[in-house]
Amino acid sequence: MQGNLNVQTENIFPVIKKFLYSDHEIFLRELISNAIDATQKMKALSSRGEFKGELGDLTVEVKIEKKKLIISDHGIGMTQDEIDKYINQIAFSGANDFLDKYKDVQENLIGHFGLGFYSAFMVADKVEIETKSYKDAPAMHWSCDGSPEFEMKEGKRKERGTDIILHIADDCKEFLEEHRILELLKKYCRFMPIAIRFGEESVWVDSETEFNEVDDGKGGKKKEPKRVEKKQPRIINDTDPAWRKKPADLTDEDYKKFYHELYPMNFEEPLFQIHLNVDYPFNLTGILYFPKVRKTIDPNRNKIQLYCNQVFVTDSVEGVVPEYLMLLHGVLDSPDIPLNVSRSYLQSDSNVKKIAQHISKKVADKLEEMSKNKVDLKDADGNPVADAPTQLEEKWDDIKIFVEYGMLTEEKFCERAMKFALLKNTEGKYFKLDDYRDKVKALQTDKDKNVIYLYATDVDEQHAYIAKAKEKGYDVLLMDSVLNSHYINLLEQKIEKTRFVRVDGDTVEKLIAHEDTIPEKLTQEQKDKLKPIIEGEVDKAKFTVQLESMESDDQPMVITQNEFMRRYKEMSQTSGGGMGFYGEMPDNYNLVVNINHPLIEQVLNEADADKQKQLVHQLTDLALLSNGLLKGEALTQFIKRSVEMI
Ligand code: ADP
Repeated sequence: MQGNLNVQTENIFPVIKKFLYSDHEIFLRELISNAIDATQKMKALSSRGEFKGELGDLTVEVKIEKKKLIISDHGIGMTQDEIDKYINQIAFSGANDFLDKYKDVQENLIGHFGLGFYSAFMVADKVEIETKSYKDAPAMHWSCDGSPEFEMKEGKRKERGTDIILHIADDCKEFLEEHRILELLKKYCRFMPIAIRFGEESVWVDSETEFNEVDDGKGGKKKEPKRVEKKQPRIINDTDPAWRKKPADLTDEDYKKFYHELYPMNFEEPLFQIHLNVDYPFNLTGILYFPKVRKTIDPNRNKIQLYCNQVFVTDSVEGVVPEYLMLLHGVLDSPDIPLNVSRSYLQSDSNVKKIAQHISKKVADKLEEMSKNKVDLKDADGNPVADAPTQLEEKWDDIKIFVEYGMLTEEKFCERAMKFALLKNTEGKYFKLDDYRDKVKALQTDKDKNVIYLYATDVDEQHAYIAKAKEKGYDVLLMDSVLNSHYINLLEQKIEKTRFVRVDGDTVEKLIAHEDTIPEKLTQEQKDKLKPIIEGEVDKAKFTVQLESMESDDQPMVITQNEFMRRYKEMSQTSGGGMGFYGEMPDNYNLVVNINHPLIEQVLNEADADKQKQLVHQLTDLALLSNGLLKGEALTQFIKRSVEMI
């Protein structure tokens, strides 16, 4: 509440008006919810046999008439006593009580439930009620112009039900515009459980009385009905949305259809969906769709919508949906989520916590199930393909970001996901974590009994290194997600005796350090002489020269980048802050010199200093080139020099 408001004020209506200045539009949701409630009560009475008469057409109607907005229902209506009890006493118990009752509302909320009928005064300067109860009682008319007095007398309504008549205030004229009301109805009432009518709409149909003469294709003429415009009542809601149905009654097509009903502006198909249906210990229904995650994510589009008994509440679901699932699409519907409370309260609410956990569990269940089921593929003869991928493998590239993020942020989900999460190698094959370890452990265990998982982040850029590793019989994973460095750290913690090393992290001999070493062709004296020769030709701030004993047919020089330095640098870039020190480190590389290579021997033995320099230069450039590090001026120089040498 604003500080300058006097809470002692007798007149509560200015209070109401100021209250929710930002969200006046919710009055319509509140009033229509009341109309729907009254109608559903009527249906319940009838089905229990407590009401024996005709129910009639139960459609709720919204009308604009000059300066009035009218909401009419055929619900239970109200008797004089009921108006007194439900309408009068609450509002006229005084401003203090009123504010007390709604004090939660002042914090910025997700829904403003509970403001109810009186939210009408946010947009109207006079409100009338015409109502007739289903009970044998006179019709009543109630009106109030925003002063603390109200007027109540016998009314004229003939049929059972209620009209709420709003005399829209001058500063709220937008609520007399058809397109604005239609927009609000579409926002809040799209899936309410009783049909809501607002005006008429045109449809084009075949006329029954008017015909055109057209060619019949055989040289003659035939009659064809004219297409004519027909007006019909415009029903703005789907009273039986897919999430309220039983999963068994829905096909994949039905789910897709509903997805497009929910997001008419999204033309992409969802990948798959999870239908939620719980009634104990809390009530929750809904459908969550896994979308294709685009490179540029627009978090403001296609958000998960939260409903309370089919009444739209909000599309900010923080707290209710675990963070890693915020990018999913779909709907959640639960009467057990407290709506008129602040967000921080929401997150500590035990029901809400349970709901978030439940959603997480359901997602894990679904993914695990998909990891067990094969995609239904048939060969040319119609027989099932034996090595068809699993459903999870088929979708993995699109959803791994959810799974990885979930594993990083939710302990419980991580535990579950360790069983189904996949690794993909550079040949495009997928493996569960355990299976992958079994596959590589024979060749890729180092002398300290660590299993080394080799990986590449870019198949083209690291091509030479991948090829080298494969020659050795090693397998190389493709790890190219944005969360990579964090995710790799997690896996190293979770899977004992495992280390991840990027293929260009070292020379192939040293990527996985086995016991046996290759004999060195140079003496210590020769090595001491060689090192400064090479160091003299490279930028020392960037490169550390290392002499290594490698196979004589390996490359003469290789550039590698320390795994941990690189990973910390990447992590500090994706986590922002905390690890700034690493982020600011310049890129640092090792220039590994293969002392067993004949060309290196040639460098050492070259008597002409210029020729020696040129040779070293050429060799380092070649190493840079295969690493994608030779660019611009240096690249041009290299090409020129190469041509001269040839
Ligand atoms: P709430 O809906 O949260 O109970 P409201 O202030 O919106 O609070 O409404 C108070 C009461 O007035 C309702 O509980 C209901 O008994 C009665 N009421 C409001 N609108 C209608 C209606 N259209 N038909 C019948 N009763 C209504």
